Amino acid sequence: MKPILTTIAMSVMMFGMGGCAGDEGADGAEKEFQWTIDRFDDIRVMRYRVPGFEELPLDQKMLIYYLSEAALSGRDILFDQNFRYNLPVRRTLEGIYRSWEGPREGAEWQAFETYLKKVWFANGMHHHYSGDKFVPGFTEEYFDTLLAATPVEALPVDFADGSREGLVAAIKSVIFDPALYPVRANQAEGADLLTTSAMNYYEGVTQAEAEKFYAAMAAANASDQTPISYGLNSKLVKSNGRLREIVWKEDGMYGSAIKQIVFWLEKAAEVATDPQKTVITDLVNYYRSGDLRDFDTYNVAWVRDTVSHVDFVNGFIENYGDPLGFKSSWEANVNFKDIEATRRTETISDNAQWFEDNSPVDPRYKKPVVKGVSAKVITAAIIGGDCFPATPIGINLPNADWIRRDHGSKSVTIQNITDAYDKAAEGNGFQEEFVLRKEDRERLKLWGSLGGNLHTDLHECLGHGSGQLAAGVTGAELRQYGSAVEEARADLFALYYLADPKMVEIGLIPSLDVAWAEYASYMMNGLQTQMSRIAPGKNVEESHMRNRQAVAQWCYERGREENVIEKVVEGGKTYIVVNDFERLRGLIGELLREVQRIKSTGDFEAGRDFIEGYGVKVDPAMHAEVLERYTALNLAPYGGFVNPRYELVRNANTGEVTDVKVSYDESYVEQLLRYSRDYSFLPSKN
Ligand code: ZN
Repeated sequence: MKPILTTIAMSVMMFGMGGCAGDEGADGAEKEFQWTIDRFDDIRVMRYRVPGFEELPLDQKMLIYYLSEAALSGRDILFDQNFRYNLPVRRTLEGIYRSWEGPREGAEWQAFETYLKKVWFANGMHHHYSGDKFVPGFTEEYFDTLLAATPVEALPVDFADGSREGLVAAIKSVIFDPALYPVRANQAEGADLLTTSAMNYYEGVTQAEAEKFYAAMAAANASDQTPISYGLNSKLVKSNGRLREIVWKEDGMYGSAIKQIVFWLEKAAEVATDPQKTVITDLVNYYRSGDLRDFDTYNVAWVRDTVSHVDFVNGFIENYGDPLGFKSSWEANVNFKDIEATRRTETISDNAQWFEDNSPVDPRYKKPVVKGVSAKVITAAIIGGDCFPATPIGINLPNADWIRRDHGSKSVTIQNITDAYDKAAEGNGFQEEFVLRKEDRERLKLWGSLGGNLHTDLHECLGHGSGQLAAGVTGAELRQYGSAVEEARADLFALYYLADPKMVEIGLIPSLDVAWAEYASYMMNGLQTQMSRIAPGKNVEESHMRNRQAVAQWCYERGREENVIEKVVEGGKTYIVVNDFERLRGLIGELLREVQRIKSTGDFEAGRDFIEGYGVKVDPAMHAEVLERYTALNLAPYGGFVNPRYELVRNANTGEVTDVKVSYDESYVEQLLRYSRDYSFLPSKN
């Protein structure tokens, strides 16, 4: 589970650094580092730095290098999972882009290039966040001209009958007809969520059939206290009237990419030491067998390893891309511990039981004993798959409920990424535009960054791990509202405790001003600014966004009589102002109690009413206003990153590896073209 961007603070606000990177600029190096490197459509592409990498011992640098290669090797899997046309379309666009000798300027070329950049960013033809299919800004005629000039060897004709004409026939209408496959993962209530979604996790299967299939599987193992994650690593297809799973494993679907991942993992195992060596070997075993029991074995070993300095995620992990929540997309992250900043999360962890005991939640739904909350702040070394280029800023894994119950979970906050967001947002004018009161702006400047980081820490370390289900409840009852409700639960837990005097007492914040900075920014985001991410006429689809709007809107409406949160209009512009922070905390506690009840009792109707009633519909007038104000400032609602580049340094005579060099000079286009060249391990048709 992960917050993609917990607060708008992470994406667009300008904040002080909270002491994280204080000593910069003495040698001028900081000034030269370019944080934002590309800007197109609603996207800003940034770089992040990997402070501390150079100082790592050689074996850890090599471990990171090998794990990084494994992290890049599965990229094509995600493209195919998102939509079966993604690989042929991406490769067609790249073939054109590499070989076109005509003018690389003018509106149509620019539109073509932007479309390619968007496909790279979204790992496919649908927006990475909203899931809506991209509309090309160039004409079919222009596309024909480009295609006709591209040598057939540069095109993925393996998708069709081997000819250019066959390829064109197969993909052109998919690119240009907006009615075809309009949304990646449909969540509209009442529709068949599978047959109306473009995602490639099911084929020829209706929602009812898939639900029945997995319900039967769960029922057959109802007494299993340690159930596997049914359906997690396979595509469900119907052939000859029968449903069957095609498993993603080394000798199964996506095998040629998985083989590469395994190759690099085995290299990594050679330089790793136990317990991590065993963790990596367990993961290799699972990639070979495709057996979800092996996945659990790996997860248990992984979650128990809290000692390794370098850590990683690599596999089919998060199920946000499947409207039914069974199938997981492929993702990767390699990181190492930020020892200094980890003191912060260790303090939170050390007090986990106190937080659980003192929450406003019904005692029946509290954990009597909070187990194994391991929390750390990390420095990302590489991001891949569904974590690239848009990346989460915090991760809490594994997802299996029983592993969390019996073995706990690992929770991380990725600080070098949030630092990069903050750095890149400096001076963009967002605060001046959207924050009305000077006192709020000043509080945000002083404490926004710390408030945002602590929110993420609390959300991940405590929020997701808190609470317990009532007897007989499996956690799957909330169906398509499960993710949004779960994110709301973690956010509410974080918001509630951020403003607890305990936070001051244990030295995490100097005063509650840190909490009020986060409250102001969270409410503004949920009620207003996150709408910048939604196309006109659309509603809120993504789970984290639904959660944030639901929480903010509920608090707004509930506190209306007392004017707790106010929509102030000045000079034709609307501002979200929190008038009573203490009272707002009371409302947050009230809602936390209710959302935990919904989760613990599996109350589908209440979960649906909360999300549909508060989190889905946008106010069209406010929406239009936000879009206009964003456009005027040229602000990008979404951000993502290019990776650093790692290279082995060898002794010229012996060939022995003597160092691993990290560099930060690739452009977005250079990096994505290189990835497509060096890490394309799948055929266009899978
Ligand atoms: Zn979360």
